[in-house]
Amino acid sequence: MNRRDWKYIWYVLRDFSKRYKAVLVSTLFWGIVEALKPYIAVIMTGYLLDGVYEGKPAKTLVLYALAGVGAVFVIAVINSILIEYTNTKFEYMMEIQNQYLNEKGMSMDYDYLESMHVHDMRQRVEKCCGDFSLLGAIYSTMRDWLVAGFSMLFAVIIVLPMFLHSNRTGGIIGSWYMSALFFIILGVIIWINFKAGVFYNERIRVAWDKFSPFENRRKFYMDIFTGYEGQKDLRIYREQPIYEKEAEVIANGEKQVQDEVTRDQIRHGVVGQALSAVTGLMVYLFAGLQAYVGLISIGSVVAYAASILKFTTAVNQFTELSSEMKSYAKYAVDYAEYMELEKKHKEGKKIVEKRKDGHFTVEFEHVYFRYPGTERYVIHDLNLQFEVGEKMAIVGKNGSGKTTFIKLLCRLYDVTEGCIRVNGTDIREYDEEDYSRLFSVVFQDFRIFSFPLGENIAASASVDSGRANDALARAGLKERMERLPNGLATCVGREFEENGVSFSGGEKQKMAIARAIYKDAPFILMDEPTAALDPLSECEVYEGFDRMVGKKTAIYISHRLASCRFCEDILVFDNGSVVQKGNHDKLEKEEGLYRELWNAQAQYYA
Ligand code: ADP
Repeated sequence: MNRRDWKYIWYVLRDFSKRYKAVLVSTLFWGIVEALKPYIAVIMTGYLLDGVYEGKPAKTLVLYALAGVGAVFVIAVINSILIEYTNTKFEYMMEIQNQYLNEKGMSMDYDYLESMHVHDMRQRVEKCCGDFSLLGAIYSTMRDWLVAGFSMLFAVIIVLPMFLHSNRTGGIIGSWYMSALFFIILGVIIWINFKAGVFYNERIRVAWDKFSPFENRRKFYMDIFTGYEGQKDLRIYREQPIYEKEAEVIANGEKQVQDEVTRDQIRHGVVGQALSAVTGLMVYLFAGLQAYVGLISIGSVVAYAASILKFTTAVNQFTELSSEMKSYAKYAVDYAEYMELEKKHKEGKKIVEKRKDGHFTVEFEHVYFRYPGTERYVIHDLNLQFEVGEKMAIVGKNGSGKTTFIKLLCRLYDVTEGCIRVNGTDIREYDEEDYSRLFSVVFQDFRIFSFPLGENIAASASVDSGRANDALARAGLKERMERLPNGLATCVGREFEENGVSFSGGEKQKMAIARAIYKDAPFILMDEPTAALDPLSECEVYEGFDRMVGKKTAIYISHRLASCRFCEDILVFDNGSVVQKGNHDKLEKEEGLYRELWNAQAQYYA
């Protein structure tokens, strides 16, 4: 562990401690008490032995024994209370970590969410320690580490008198230089033990690192084999032999790593045991000789020897835990980097004017945009102006920038150059949350969650059932609603509720439209809102469109040009800018992309 590793490990713990300080403090106490427990037994045994040797009365000996047992009992009780307290939090480490990551995920700039680098970073943090979670792994390692650290400290405190006698009798055995010599030899052995621990644990850690790519590959193939999705292709194309071969390669790779780890573990074990044996021999010899010349008591021999041996065990644990912690440090770097992703979006303060007449104007002024990390402009010099109440359709080829236009208007991304104004104010000056209230959006890749239907429509746990039913009816789900067992309380999907109902893609799309209607925002933006609908439902949506959106500004993107005919304004996008604008009758007569697209589609309906 170097300083950098420490810095990041501490970063993770500090994040945790901000909300769970009491857990960290009680863990610290637990560490002290846990480390102290074995030494109490050792010290009391020493006292008892001395008492027997000195011929103390039985009553005194019983008192010693009771004091020892009593102290261990009190400590055990304190410990179990502390551990119960910390464990209640420990069991939720995964949830706590997810909560931190989610809070960051919700507040970070949207473009980070589309970045593979950011996505991978989060995946590594989430997956690195399984159900244990990175936070849980770091926390528990730190807990054991504290015990090992305090254990070493207590051993030193107990053993120190063996080296620092004020009364130096017993000739050469009791001399200070004999103590110094023993101290140095012991120090060297412990140092070698420590170094061997660092060496082997590091080798084992590096070997285990080679294991995870195999593990990931295995999981990938297991998903194909166990999931019904992958099985379709697997069966039709008889692809099993490819995977069987791959499985063999993976198994061989895993075995090689496992063998490497086992070899190093055995070597480390042998070296560690040999050094422990030498340490034990030295300690018993030196303490025994000191007792022999009358410098220390028999009981002290037991206490000293046990403490020094405990010290070496603690050193071994310490190095092992350090190596474990080092392997977490690289994920702690990911965690820190993710949590510290800088907010590039300018945080505006302005509140969108709440006009009584509900009037809004939107202007795009020489807007240019390229996605972060890319060179190509996907929006070129876009100039537009529209007012509330207008119904606008956007058409154009794939990749012409239609969805990007919606994302810019909602301020999921900031323009690269130019400016978007709402009611004359640059949208970057508005408070983000307040600005987002202006929009209801049905995205192409909308999500409906496995919650009760009403909560999905209201996007909240508190549902105005009158409004929700109305929105669902306007989106064309009235009949379907009547057949639902629990109305708005019906759970969407069966993942969490046995009585849940599975809905079709088209029905879910209508729910997404109903959610947009329920929000009652001045702008409704729909990106291919009927892509998953059958022709009848599509027709229903378009015929009822005016009723659905009322006086709101509606912008919708569609590939089905026939559905755009009722719009006052149709914008034709090509290569990131608007190349034509007008109603259907005008555009159909005009030479240009619209007519090309219209004719291409019309020939199938002729
Ligand atoms: P449309 O909706 O007209 O099909 P989009 O607005 O989705 O087009 O995309 C416009 C261009 O921007 C396309 O070339 C697409 O590849 C690119 N693009 C879309 N999203 C991203 C992204 N997150 N990062 C980089 N390029 C993107």
